[in-house]
Amino acid sequence: MTDEKSTQLSSDSLQLCPCGQTPSALWVYPSNTCKYAYVSGDCCGEWNLEFRTEYNDLDSDACMNLAIHYWNHAVRG
Ligand SMILES: [Zn+2]
Repeated sequence: MTDEKSTQLSSDSLQLCPCGQTPSALWVYPSNTCKYAYVSGDCCGEWNLEFRTEYNDLDSDACMNLAIHYWNHAVRG
């Protein structure tokens, strides 16, 4: 399930995904720069958003918290 390029993080306080489901976990993917990463939900895996990692490691708690923050505050169409 988990490949080495993504980090799964679980939270019981995730906002609804634009696909109509609430993800039970988020996946964090590296981008081609260490400044940014992508986060998507395990509901559909299709909607994702880019966020600043603030140079935290992708599997760090700080980065997970950032991913959750950006997910929950992202503008949804
Ligand atoms: Zn979704």
